Amino acid sequence: ATTVERIAAGEVVERPASVVKELVENSLDADASRIEVEVDGDGTERVAVRDDGVGMTRPDAKVAVRQHTTSKIRDADDLASVATLGFRGEALHTIAAVSKTTVTTRAREGDGPATELRIEGGDVEAVRSAGRAPGTTIEVRDLFYNTPARREFLSAASTEFGHVNRAVSRYALANPDVAVSLAHDGTETFATPGDGDLRGAMLAVYGRDVAEAMIRVDATPDGPLERVSGYVSHPETTRSTREYLATYVNGRYVSDSVLREALVEAYGTQLAADRFPFAVLDVEIPPEAVDANVHPRKMAVRFEDEAGVREGVTEAVHDALLEAGL
Ligand code: ADP
Ligand code: MG
Repeated sequence: ATTVERIAAGEVVERPASVVKELVENSLDADASRIEVEVDGDGTERVAVRDDGVGMTRPDAKVAVRQHTTSKIRDADDLASVATLGFRGEALHTIAAVSKTTVTTRAREGDGPATELRIEGGDVEAVRSAGRAPGTTIEVRDLFYNTPARREFLSAASTEFGHVNRAVSRYALANPDVAVSLAHDGTETFATPGDGDLRGAMLAVYGRDVAEAMIRVDATPDGPLERVSGYVSHPETTRSTREYLATYVNGRYVSDSVLREALVEAYGTQLAADRFPFAVLDVEIPPEAVDANVHPRKMAVRFEDEAGVREGVTEAVHDALLEAGL
């Protein structure tokens, strides 16, 4: 990779959690029903994501690691209706430019063998046949080995793994029909059942105490929101950070202060000062009423009718708490 490419990579791949995010999104896009994430150390040592998705043929795999290649947009019309999580076609290339990456993949369709591609600093070092079931494993070693400045920005291993844990948790909770597991230094952090039941996914991610006290929300409020659904915690099951407020718009995770504040507002004085509930809450809204392209990493949105969204969420959560006798 050229220096310019390496610098550009630093903008997309900020830390090990960004790698995990992109790889898990690709696995979800690939229709996986099982996704296994493994992290060693602070994540720069090794991150591996294994899935049982559609996989790639050898020619597809070679193309996939090149810049600006995506299998997800065929023409300009597709841009308006993009349903998959990734559509920029730069993640894999960018990650491979700043690490030693091995892609092992076998297409679900067709009867070709699996392909193993070894890439070092963006250069393809080896392509050979391998054995594996249909699906894809991407292993990223020595992240930022050729961008030492980026490496210095990283925090302690526990902090970096915390970022990974929260990212994988959010995907696991948004996709209860996919079995998602996470392991750190060989020890399992959580594994969701993947049976479609959000409660089971919450049990795996949050543990029994939190999960059992969660309250179901399912409402069709007046205003711009078509549906508000998910779970919120009992006012006594709280944390001192907002990080456990997992909010989604049309099934996609967003970090959004409007949704977070509306949710907290619903608890009124029942919440102690500086305490925040747990929540896994999805709002359904017509795509034209929300701008999802505010932030390059796509975790921010802007609502056309912000006040309407705010009221809808507060009302939905407030009603759920009332119904639960709170
Ligand atoms: P994007 O997701 O934006 O298309 P990426 O760089 O993340 O771009 O991936 C490039 C291409 O590689 C994808 O479009 C897809 O065809 C292929 N690909 C990446 N990861 C996987 C995977 N886990 N399973 C199947 N195909 C994959
Ligand atoms: Mg992608």
